[in-house]
Amino acid sequence: MISTQIPKNPIKRLNVFYTLGEGIIVSADIQSRSRRDVIHYTRIVLDPLTLRTVKASCDCEGYTFRGHCWHIETLKQLINADEKIKEEVEKARNELMQTEEDIASWG
Ligand SMILES: [Zn+2]
Repeated sequence: MISTQIPKNPIKRLNVFYTLGEGIIVSADIQSRSRRDVIHYTRIVLDPLTLRTVKASCDCEGYTFRGHCWHIETLKQLINADEKIKEEVEKARNELMQTEEDIASWG
């Protein structure tokens, strides 16, 4: 569990997976700073080739009204800094590449 490794981490849950249509997806439940009982669902899509962020979304007011928020920034920073998450992203990337190769070989 990532939340036990980093004290005071507002990230309550984090998943790394992939979809063929979108790419590598990192989704997280992030606790609100102002309201402790509120959890925001934050999602980042990474391009499997470049690992750049191609899409990000969050259900908080900040993102809804301004198009950016600290939840997404926090998640982005974590992806760049946390070795375990990087490993998960790499794993998802390999699986995605493999699946795409398999599909291509079906002709
Ligand atoms: Zn947000």
